[in-house]
Amino acid sequence: MSDAEQQVVKSFPVIRKSDERRQSAAIADTEQARTAFSWEQARKRLTGLPGGGINIAFEALDRHVEAGHGDQLAIRWLGQDGGRRDLSYAELTGEASRFANVLAEYGLVPGDRVFALLGRVPELYAVALGTLRAGLTFTPLFAAFGPEPVRSRMEIGDASVLVTTASLYRKKIAAWSDELPGLKQVFVLGQDAPEDCIALTPAMASAEPESTVHATTEDSTALIHFTSGTTGRPKGAVHVHGAVVAHAETGRLALDLQPGDVYWCTADPGWVTGTTYGIISPLVNRCSMIVDEAEFDLDRWYRILQEEKVQVWYTAPTAIRMMMRAGEASAADHDFSALRFLASVGEPLNAECVVWGQKVFGSPFHDNWWQTETGGIMIANLPAMDIKPGSMGKPLPGIQAGIVERGASGVEELLQGEIGELALRSGWPSMMRDYLHEPERYAKCFDSGWYLTGDLALCDSDGYYWFVGRADDLIKSSGHLIGPFEVESALIEHEAVAEAAVIGIPDETAGEVVKAYVTLNSGFEPDEATERSIRGLARKRLGPAVAPREIVFRQTLPKTRSGKIMRRLLKARELGLPEGDISTLESDEK
Ligand code: AMP
Repeated sequence: MSDAEQQVVKSFPVIRKSDERRQSAAIADTEQARTAFSWEQARKRLTGLPGGGINIAFEALDRHVEAGHGDQLAIRWLGQDGGRRDLSYAELTGEASRFANVLAEYGLVPGDRVFALLGRVPELYAVALGTLRAGLTFTPLFAAFGPEPVRSRMEIGDASVLVTTASLYRKKIAAWSDELPGLKQVFVLGQDAPEDCIALTPAMASAEPESTVHATTEDSTALIHFTSGTTGRPKGAVHVHGAVVAHAETGRLALDLQPGDVYWCTADPGWVTGTTYGIISPLVNRCSMIVDEAEFDLDRWYRILQEEKVQVWYTAPTAIRMMMRAGEASAADHDFSALRFLASVGEPLNAECVVWGQKVFGSPFHDNWWQTETGGIMIANLPAMDIKPGSMGKPLPGIQAGIVERGASGVEELLQGEIGELALRSGWPSMMRDYLHEPERYAKCFDSGWYLTGDLALCDSDGYYWFVGRADDLIKSSGHLIGPFEVESALIEHEAVAEAAVIGIPDETAGEVVKAYVTLNSGFEPDEATERSIRGLARKRLGPAVAPREIVFRQTLPKTRSGKIMRRLLKARELGLPEGDISTLESDEK
């Protein structure tokens, strides 16, 4: 074992899978499947459009209805206040068609971009799938974002349409919506709409529940997902309809999705996991999805798992840690016997959590890794694989990963047991095709046939990958990727703030939380009132998921000679780690 391996690899006992478990998975022998796999074969498992095209919504809905599964439950929606609504595949297809027809009626055409700022309500699913079936581009936004992140994303994404609620519209959008030149239409849920908006309920009611699927091809733009960057504004990762081949296959292989499964993905569709694995993949694999409108609540979650007889559950480390914290006793009087497969994504999953799954739910949590740019799961603990708790698993069939180092002469692959940047050989169907308006930034992600992920990792001698950290300054808090620049920009809008630097600091539950260091303009006191006022503005502008948890005052911030704030140094000091190379440090105060 290399020194690095000794540090990174956890010494938990391997969780072995039984032969029975292996045989019931989509692939029983992962190594053999890796050799035999081809994306062409995976494509053949889907139906495709007449004429050779492909459309995500058609694969998710119509083909199941055509094959006689129209009556199967597609979505069971559980409302925050106890409401319930079931939608069969046929009904959801009808709702999606209605929305597609509403878009057409208002003159919206392929090329137009439909943004959704909604909670987890049934309409969201019809909007997403209706947009895709009509050949327009769908972009989800997280409903807990403040006006600032909403506005920047709608600007960068040239939003043509927004679907939201009257209340979100008034709170977050009304003040500036007429400054977006490309915004053609705002739909709000319900019977009544604010001025200049259209009420969606009557529009849907008078639309036909049938529509023709637009003849999209593998390369037609389908989705734009925003993700954070270390510098500059958020990045709009462009994904195409051909990605559905990977959405389907990765769900089948890495999440064990089988037709008819009751499946629950707890991620919000405002983020990439909640769209790919909370809408598309389960429907394409003909599962029955549970959609819970409410936020995390321990008793409610245990009740849902039990009462809905969830078989496959995809969740996130922050939630798992919250459950662990509440203790085993709170889970003890529930029946989780329907659960067959548990998976987790989005942030490092502690080895303890993996084992805890086994104890409490009768199955370990299967960690997997991917990011907005990859469009689908790339590295996973597959159902038939033995699990090394704490590891992200191995690359999926069809995915070639490596640990590399960027150098002056290109990218060099490192040996097993060495820490480097996680890279993937380009060429799988769900890879992003562009960053909107930023071709250079996009091109920088690729070198010598590799896509460079920005994550640091290690591959051990058995081919298992272990997450080490980010190679950049991005922050992962409760699974949300947060760009420090976006937070700093909002902070300096406060009249008291001269400069701001934002880092992530470890947190037992959320993985990391946002901490801000600020310097003040003259005339402002570094006291509690100022802190409260800055924090209040940040929450208002950014929303609670993104705003800093802690704000501290400094006389100066550490900067390079070229004036760049050294967030890395702040972080090293915060954590008591070595400061590394500080030869470029210009000004500073500890
Ligand atoms: P996003 O694009 O918001 O989905 O965030 C992607 C990033 O989340 C990755 O680049 C990683 O830094 C982190 N991430 C995702 N899955 C995992 C995982 N299983 N373990 C550790 N980090 C992860």
